[in-house]
Amino acid sequence: MSKTKLIVATTSLAGCFGCHMSLLDIDERILELVEVVEFNRSPIDDFKEFTKECDLGLVEGGCCNAENVRVLREFREHCKILVAVGQCAITGGLPAMRNGISMKELLEEAYFNGVTVGNKMIPNDEEIPAILDRVYPCHEIVKIDAFLPGCAPRADLIWEVLNRIIEGKSLDNLTYKNFKYD
Ligand code: SF4
Repeated sequence: MSKTKLIVATTSLAGCFGCHMSLLDIDERILELVEVVEFNRSPIDDFKEFTKECDLGLVEGGCCNAENVRVLREFREHCKILVAVGQCAITGGLPAMRNGISMKELLEEAYFNGVTVGNKMIPNDEEIPAILDRVYPCHEIVKIDAFLPGCAPRADLIWEVLNRIIEGKSLDNLTYKNFKYD
């Protein structure tokens, strides 16, 4: 008889996909993963929309534009447990280095003065999501249930989270040796 699988959604907001790479860095346990997890909305299976409610949402990256906020709120709505994976989700990470720079200076550097600038114009296509005044960590937008530090977090830590939820255990006091802070 087939076991009930953990339904998991994942997304990358203002992130680099390195945290997703860490999830896939569980080596041979990936065979076990297939047995215990069913991915729903995720770049892993390329599902663009939620097709069911999920047990767990893993969010990589913070929010730098309106689309990131929309997606993050959608994840909160559809995922029972929502986990911020990696420094970008927890603090804004590298993209948040722009937070101390004025929007005027940012746009001028990106579209007028930078060494790689071609056409000197600010793109204004309606399909481009509106940029936010700063990069926001996920917990400033929605409630986050657990934080996995690291850039990227260790695969062992992500694996521990998956297994704890499968076993119905709390995410408190995750194993210290699985943490990293760089
Ligand atoms: Fe990439 Fe590091 Fe940010 Fe993860 S925490 S999305 S690995 S920069």
